[in-house]
Amino acid sequence: MSNLTLAQYLQQKNGNLTPELAQVIETIANSCKKIDHAIQKGALADLLGSAGNENVQGETQKKLDVLSNDFLIDALKVHPHVGGLASEELDEFTPGQQDGKYLVLFDPLDGSSNIDINMCVGTIFSILPAKNSITQTQDFMQAGTEQVAAGYVLYGPSTMMALTCGEGVAFFTFDPESQTFILTSDAIQLDADTQEFAINASNQRHWEQPVKRYIDELLAGKTSVRGKDFNMRWVACMVADIHRILCRSGIFMYPYDLKDPSKAGRLRLMYEANPMSFLIEQAGGSATTGRVRIMDIQPNDLHQRVPVIIGSKNEVDLVTSYH
Ligand code: MN
Ligand code: MN
Repeated sequence: MSNLTLAQYLQQKNGNLTPELAQVIETIANSCKKIDHAIQKGALADLLGSAGNENVQGETQKKLDVLSNDFLIDALKVHPHVGGLASEELDEFTPGQQDGKYLVLFDPLDGSSNIDINMCVGTIFSILPAKNSITQTQDFMQAGTEQVAAGYVLYGPSTMMALTCGEGVAFFTFDPESQTFILTSDAIQLDADTQEFAINASNQRHWEQPVKRYIDELLAGKTSVRGKDFNMRWVACMVADIHRILCRSGIFMYPYDLKDPSKAGRLRLMYEANPMSFLIEQAGGSATTGRVRIMDIQPNDLHQRVPVIIGSKNEVDLVTSYH
């Protein structure tokens, strides 16, 4: 593996990359370095705990949710190539520059309930083309198939970035000494089959029949129609759960459930499901709601939620066939 820096990698020809898109991705990476630095400081910088308010999703905002959001918004809203931005933490989109060619959507701090226990968190981003020079909410209402790039930064034992520009998936590891992201693997590929699954089983009684059936079969393992045993893993941070799947395959589910029938699912289409689906599909996996491919959904709301079944292709296909 070469020791390409992220900046060098972004100069190469890859998928939808343009010099302008490369600059946007570099700006996101730089904001994530600041987030990483704040997370490393943790309690020493008085950054743990609640910020004392709720976000648009009705969730308690952590101090680091607010700080991470501010880092990204401040850097991107003045970026010459960003026409507008939307954040999981903000009700309305934020206008960018008139001629900005791209829209950036992000979950500034995914899994933020992990903050107070010093566990993994991440930042997820999705980049869409800006189709008009004057941005309105309608301009963001593009299906996931329109994404030109997507990725995440995982603040784990090492800080890593996963990135797709529409031609495969690459991993970068943050080198704290040089303060740069260095390419450490590319051509990430999932196996079509897996023996590992991730689901929040405490919601089991609320699941629909197809998901109940699928999980029952996995739990019965060798004694079921599956004829093999499965393992379960759950980090409660989508970035970490998806990272594990990109590293060694698996299936992740946050399915539709009947706990609150007014909610179509728990995860956000624009900030979580679409960018992760783009990455997973680019690595040879699949992503559906159980009924339709996630990236084909025509959004109607910035904060829309969807059921998510994502990962190794044969498992996702099987669950989908049960619906
Ligand atoms: Mn999240
Ligand atoms: Mn979040």
